[in-house]
Amino acid sequence: MKPVIALVGRPNVGKSTLFNRLTRSRDALVADLPGLTRDRHYGEGRIGERPFLVIDTGGFEPVAKDGIMHEMAKQTKQAVAEADVVVFIVDGRQGLTPHDKTITDFLRKSGRPVMLVVNKAEGMKYTTVTADFYELGLGDPYVISAAHGDGVMDLVNEALDAA
Ligand code: GDP
Ligand code: MG
Repeated sequence: MKPVIALVGRPNVGKSTLFNRLTRSRDALVADLPGLTRDRHYGEGRIGERPFLVIDTGGFEPVAKDGIMHEMAKQTKQAVAEADVVVFIVDGRQGLTPHDKTITDFLRKSGRPVMLVVNKAEGMKYTTVTADFYELGLGDPYVISAAHGDGVMDLVNEALDAA
């Protein structure tokens, strides 16, 4: 069985950009519109000799009771349940949002191993871009640029070690 990595986070943090980089496909829909990727989306990746499966998710709105947001939350929860490790992505340029905290609470209850990843960190100092996120209580964040590829190989190797 290949280890399964789920990419989770609020809309527009760069999940699909990372998915595309990991799977080298154009399958996941990358868009400037938040929330456009509405389905769970599976892909295969490989780092050296290490194959893995990765699930892109459309978004996360745990309080929605029905409609498209509810459906997206359901699919995201299912992706988390299927995952060996969850890569929880936040936006280093926007900083911490209340939504990030809600997702953290859900992930903590899920019992899955979680790696906190600060994306969009190209050209930024580690201490500056991560400062906000320590209060989530998920330890030292990993810092990447999904768009440029910085830190992505290290992240995946760490994720596979944790899976
Ligand atoms: P998703 O909604 O979480 O799947 O986010 P997307 O992958 O669709 O990306 C949302 C926006 O963030 C797009 O405009 C991306 O080009 C941009 N983006 C993604 N990764 C990075 C990054 O590493 N750096 C910067 N500056 N922008 C990024
Ligand atoms: Mg997306």
